Amino acid sequence: MANLLIVGVGGVGSVVAHKCAQAAQRTNVFEKITLASRTLSRCREAADAVRARTGLTLETARVDADNTDELSKLIRAVGADIVCNVALPYQDLHIMDACLEAGAHYLDTANYEPPDTAKFEYKWQWAYADRFREAGLTALLGSGFDPGVTNVFAAWVMKHKLDEVHVLDIVDCNAGDHGKPFATNFNPEINIREVTARGRYWERGEWVETDPLAFSMEYDFPDGIGRRKCYLLYHEELESLVTHLKGLRRARFWMTFSDNYLNHLKVLGNVGLTGIRPVRFQGRDIVPVQFLAALLPDPASLGPLTKGKTCIGNIMTGQKDGKAKRVYIYNVCDHQSCYAEVGSQAISYTTGVPAMIGAKLMAEGKWLRPGVWNLEQYDPDPFMEALGEYGLPWQCVDIE
Ligand code: NDP
Repeated sequence: MANLLIVGVGGVGSVVAHKCAQAAQRTNVFEKITLASRTLSRCREAADAVRARTGLTLETARVDADNTDELSKLIRAVGADIVCNVALPYQDLHIMDACLEAGAHYLDTANYEPPDTAKFEYKWQWAYADRFREAGLTALLGSGFDPGVTNVFAAWVMKHKLDEVHVLDIVDCNAGDHGKPFATNFNPEINIREVTARGRYWERGEWVETDPLAFSMEYDFPDGIGRRKCYLLYHEELESLVTHLKGLRRARFWMTFSDNYLNHLKVLGNVGLTGIRPVRFQGRDIVPVQFLAALLPDPASLGPLTKGKTCIGNIMTGQKDGKAKRVYIYNVCDHQSCYAEVGSQAISYTTGVPAMIGAKLMAEGKWLRPGVWNLEQYDPDPFMEALGEYGLPWQCVDIE
């Protein structure tokens, strides 16, 4: 039985709290769960919601995760074995430092980003490998849906369906509608940084850069979702997958956006409101995208409003027994079913469930190995089994 500290109790953190409570009740895997962020009242609200739905009482604490000393003291005080980081990517390195300092395993759902550049790279976190190995601690990077489940899907396909993979396309469709003129379905600042960054894909051993959202395609999604336009963007799991999946000739990431979302983003960009560099305003520095984020709806508030489904998966083309083969492995998730179960929309849900599963596999010792790891470096089977069990059933089909 493990003692878990969840840092960050926003849209995703609230789902992690609910799902960890469910896991604790079903399997006794977590002995104690503590929710912490800078705003104690939000932690208490989330703990109350979990108690109302499951009857389980979670502990709460206030912490600024950018203060390594403060966080390592909290890790020691609550006796945490595992820290689940669902705060923002800016905190990743500080939280890893605190885990090393206090002797706890680490898990997150998004790679570190320096605040002043929208860079999505694992190099800063991979550089911790020796320190985690020497301390006998595990760090699991990117245990959300994408990155996360998409990495495990890739590993499972390589274990069970293909001998070689040549082309990987990860396709992320959110066919949900919240009825707001413009809102993001996870942290607005992080979302806008990702979408407005230059695109990048892997082709014949090198990265090819594109203008933001310069390429698009139509894809016909299953389960009644139908045809949607998807745009090529860079996504962090491409870096670890091209490193760990040998033989890949091309790897791309696609995401659906409505014309309405893109039109708003274009106008906001044109007037400078998506900028990430500070500007001087009334005698103080403000970061435009942070100001914009403060005006936009809190993604956690979209739960009761969002209708429709998400469909995220991998199309993988390669060979099996010497013959060409292509498979599509995916999950479909319904926004309203997620809301009925845990009070959140499907984007937070599809991120929070895999974060819980990563923590559970670490707590059970199934995914525990000193060092810093991406999900495709572990045996995918126990994770895939838990996905179905905890609300994210998946399908793998052969396609022409
Ligand atoms: P929210 O903005 O809703 O929540 C962020 C939480 O982090 C808040 O509780 C905030 O509380 C807390 N936080 C921020 N700064 C600190 C700090 N210095 N110390 C302690 N707590 C802090 O974000 P989301 O829940 O939408 O996203 C959470 C993470 O999940 C992000 O990293 C995002 O990139 C990732 N994500 C990953 C996905 C995947 O599939 N892999 C998909 C979607 C999101 P407070 O301000 O009170 O401290």
